[in-house]
Amino acid sequence: MPGPESINIMQKLMKEYKLFPKKKWGQNFLVDGNILNKIADSCAPSQPGYVVEIGPGLGALTRQLAKRSKGVLSIEIDKSLQEPLQEVLGDSTNTRLLFADVLKVDIESQLKTAFNLTEIPRYQVCANIPYNITTPIIFQLLEDCPNMICATLMMQKEVARRILAKPNNKEYGLLTLMISYYAEVECLMKVSHHCFYPRPEVDSSVIRITPLPDKRVQVKDEKNFKDFTKAAFQKRRKTILNICSSFFKLEKGEIEEQLNALGILPASRPENLGIQEFASIADRLA
Ligand code: SAM
Repeated sequence: MPGPESINIMQKLMKEYKLFPKKKWGQNFLVDGNILNKIADSCAPSQPGYVVEIGPGLGALTRQLAKRSKGVLSIEIDKSLQEPLQEVLGDSTNTRLLFADVLKVDIESQLKTAFNLTEIPRYQVCANIPYNITTPIIFQLLEDCPNMICATLMMQKEVARRILAKPNNKEYGLLTLMISYYAEVECLMKVSHHCFYPRPEVDSSVIRITPLPDKRVQVKDEKNFKDFTKAAFQKRRKTILNICSSFFKLEKGEIEEQLNALGILPASRPENLGIQEFASIADRLA
């Protein structure tokens, strides 16, 4: 059957299976064949490899990924999509479906099992991800998926802007900094909200996240570095001097001296500092 790459086919399929888009699972389906092709093309390696897709929905992107890869494992939480998905994917033999909450599965061992492999392969992630769990998904991929080559992810434009922000910008924050700790990020394309059914209020962006071979900064105590950075951005209007004083429980005079030694202005705000500066402060004052 033709895939649900157009709003008419998508609606027909939903009617046939008595389905309705579920807001709680961020079900805004992509119904623009051109964009679907562009996303799948952007993650097609020269040597077809494995792809993990999060949230296949009704399989529009899955079909495109399957055409370009050795195998696609698609993980979907909504079991009511099983029958229509199987119908849509009927003619592709290299797709495997897993009905589960992606946040609760070990993605890499599921991929190995799904394709009966002897070891975990290198693979890409490609997905139009549910908006409400964008951040936990990204950190699951960065922290628990060491064999992932890169992740091509569609998300709300505002979240993508926060991830891609530079210092001295209102959008720059904990999310920017923590993702840059693990990975390189680039924007691949912007996608209008007109390309979805149902139509969300905001536009989207597709970004690529590529894990770094080593973390961007080396710190003595990772937990201390992360806790300090988190605390700093919770008080982003305060000066770094005040933030350090309450976080490290030290006299302001001493902190001022240490910050000066690091070449950091005590009156800076968190959004003025780069990741190396957060790492240096965390290491020096801990
Ligand atoms: N890939 C489809 C497309 O592009 O049209 C659907 C994308 S839709 C934005 C997000 C999909 O993720 C939905 O199918 C939704 O049911 C699924 N989903 C939501 N939460 C999930 C979770 N925790 N684990 C796995 N899938 C989830």
